Amino acid sequence: MPIDPREPYDDTNIFAKIIRGELPCDKVYEDDVALAFNDIRPQAPVHVLVIPKGAYVSWDDFTEKADDGEIAAFMRSVGNVTRQLELDGPGYRLMVNMGGHGHQEVPHLHVHIFGGRPFFQMIPD
Ligand code: 5GP
Repeated sequence: MPIDPREPYDDTNIFAKIIRGELPCDKVYEDDVALAFNDIRPQAPVHVLVIPKGAYVSWDDFTEKADDGEIAAFMRSVGNVTRQLELDGPGYRLMVNMGGHGHQEVPHLHVHIFGGRPFFQMIPD
């Protein structure tokens, strides 16, 4: 079920538990502001989620409330992950689902990185 992005941050969400180390993840990258791990149900040969360590429900929440430094650092982190995964040569796709129409299911901002094959159709039917 998609989330209601207007709800306050719920620190019992699954990604909050992963950040706190209460649940495991298959970590691929970590720095001061971000954590990246393999998606549990990969939809491509490479499917990694990058999340900010700060408590943000969604892209909208993050871009409204995070300060410029945190936003810039998080963007850099996403780039660090794609380069670490050596996707900068072949290319990749980034996706952020937001709220109901975006079909966001986990109420903690996450950037999907898809790679390992070409992607053609931008928006599936
Ligand atoms: P959304 O639809 O919210 O953009 O995507 C949520 C993603 O989180 C899905 O791709 C789903 O497979 C992934 N996911 C959900 N629960 C877990 C989990 O416990 N661990 C990991 N690694 N991924 C998860």
